[in-house]
Amino acid sequence: MLAATDPRTREAATTLPVYGQLPFVPESGTGCDIVTADGRRILDLYGGHAVAALGYNHPRLVKAIGDQAGKLQFQSNAVALEIRAQAAEKLVEIAPDNLQKVFFVNSGAEANENALRVACTVTRRRKILAVQHGFHGRTAAAAAATWNSSSWYGFPQTPFDVDFITRDDCADAAARIESDVAAVIVEPVQGVAGAYDLSTDFLRAIRRKSAQVGALMIADEVQSGIGRCGYNFAIQAADVQPDIITSAKSLGGGMPCGAMLCSNALAEQFGPGSLGTTFGGGPLAAAAIVAVLDTIAQEGLLQNVRAREQQIRSECTVGPIQRIQGMGLLLGLVCDQPAAEVRDALLQQDILTGTSANPNILRILAPLTLQEQHVTQLADALAQIGK
Ligand code: PLP
Repeated sequence: MLAATDPRTREAATTLPVYGQLPFVPESGTGCDIVTADGRRILDLYGGHAVAALGYNHPRLVKAIGDQAGKLQFQSNAVALEIRAQAAEKLVEIAPDNLQKVFFVNSGAEANENALRVACTVTRRRKILAVQHGFHGRTAAAAAATWNSSSWYGFPQTPFDVDFITRDDCADAAARIESDVAAVIVEPVQGVAGAYDLSTDFLRAIRRKSAQVGALMIADEVQSGIGRCGYNFAIQAADVQPDIITSAKSLGGGMPCGAMLCSNALAEQFGPGSLGTTFGGGPLAAAAIVAVLDTIAQEGLLQNVRAREQQIRSECTVGPIQRIQGMGLLLGLVCDQPAAEVRDALLQQDILTGTSANPNILRILAPLTLQEQHVTQLADALAQIGK
């Protein structure tokens, strides 16, 4: 029985009961560790759903947000800001060459909502294709393009016709992407589905056929982007240039923000008033974006992500883990028992991981700053399970 003063009791009394919550209360964090209210130190390999790209209390991110808060906390897009200009320039710099313009928003769903709106507007078509098992968010358009969303969708109808391509089926992609399609939205590595990395051939087939019929290709990199897969954006591993990339989660390292990146040609079709947001591109979010992108570059975090991925692949197929899928630090550990049981057993050993839509897949979404000893700790803890 929890005390009446415990935040879990008070949240249960005052917030909607829509989340299954974990059995601890974080109070602070440092490096890759969360420290709980009762003094427990937990290695966080889940990063708050892939958000904590730099872990906790990273001095560069803390300083950037603090300095900006002391200077100017907010101004909207009604004025230009030096820090927003810097954030946009840095994003364009790391994106595929064809993407030269940024529209800042506040979340992944909002980025996808705008990307889908752009696609329907410029193509004047009313059909969106997504990929089976994909997740794109909970707003009207993003949820409409999300696999199996009908049980929670809630709106009376979807804003466009939707169909789903069988994943990794190049022939199905070629057959379904016809001249009535406004866009194909695809996560290069399907995060919620259990870090399922779509094949390069499949991503290229989508690119090729979309270009042929004048449909846009939207890469949803909300979970896979900003270094998480060992590339700035995961789609770059397949050498594919989408028409739009959406980003959020790791982008601000914990400061809520999102972005949609598109080509000059697409951007030219939108004038004042056609898209908008109050908070998107605010100075605090922009300062966080600049700090995250600078830190990834200056601390060599893409290389670190690739090294940690290799280490996890070679050391962690132990205990209940049968095989590993995904890319970089967006990994799905396929278990021989329910992933929730493995997560709970790891948590008892002070390691936090996550589950996924696939009941047998445990997800790793660790900070990009993960160290060699953390992976060894995970491997040792996995080996203990079921002993
Ligand atoms: N797209 C992908 C691939 C995601 O994983 C998520 C969230 O998990 C979203 C979109 C929605 O992002 P948000 O929760 O920031 O709206």
